[in-house]
Amino acid sequence: RVNIKRISTGVRSLDELLNGGVETGAVTEVAGEFGAGKTQFCHQLAVMVQLPEDRGGLNAKAIYIDTENTFRPERITQMARARGLDPDQALKNIYYARAYSSDHQMILVEQARRIIKQDNVKLLVVDSIVAHFRAEFPGRENLAERQQKLNKHIADLLKIADAYDVAVVVTNQVMAQPDVFFGNPLRPAGGNVLAHGATYRIWLRKSKENIRIAKIFDSPYHPEREATFKITEEGLTD
Ligand code: ATP
Ligand code: MG
Repeated sequence: RVNIKRISTGVRSLDELLNGGVETGAVTEVAGEFGAGKTQFCHQLAVMVQLPEDRGGLNAKAIYIDTENTFRPERITQMARARGLDPDQALKNIYYARAYSSDHQMILVEQARRIIKQDNVKLLVVDSIVAHFRAEFPGRENLAERQQKLNKHIADLLKIADAYDVAVVVTNQVMAQPDVFFGNPLRPAGGNVLAHGATYRIWLRKSKENIRIAKIFDSPYHPEREATFKITEEGLTD
């Protein structure tokens, strides 16, 4: 693709891993165990996208679909302040919606599409993409139906990323290295939902204290490197 734009993560090591940041026109999956920093990563991007281009942003707004009630306005405020943004304005530049079920989550994505058509939105977050689907379709016996619905949802997100050149970032809680136990939910066997748009997976894991390690999976472009970062009061930092 030509003219790919990127949202800086605000962390040098992570940006290097991602060749400059999170891509527009693509779906990026952030996977990892509880406390790995997936939600923090999403909060930080919702702030970073607002920065001017010469500071790694796209001078744009974000949409945040929250399925687990873990969005924290005060965390956005902290991160915005650390980047020299007006905290209240930073919050106003984030369209926020809580999703109460998988069906509701899918309706919110359609509403997000309409907002994106009208406003300068360059980031769409779904945190977590799978929680409702796992809760509503538990166990092996529901796996096929769950995957079918999830595939539709992912296809909708890929279409938005592609059609409006938006960065879509989704989170996925997994217990171990994702490809080992879960396969790749964004690359379902047989279902060619990837015709339009690319997908990337970032795997986060905990190290000592506030240190986290990121790695990229399944990318034809990114080497299998690792990057180390910290989670602090200011957000994600080198
Ligand atoms: P889950 O799968 O449970 O949703 P997650 O990957 O989304 O987990 P996060 O909520 O992003 O995990 O990360 C939580 C971690 O972020 C906490 O353990 C803490 O270390 C760190 N953290 C959160 N807020 C702050 C803060 N204000 N200052 C410093 N560190 C913080
Ligand atoms: Mg989370």
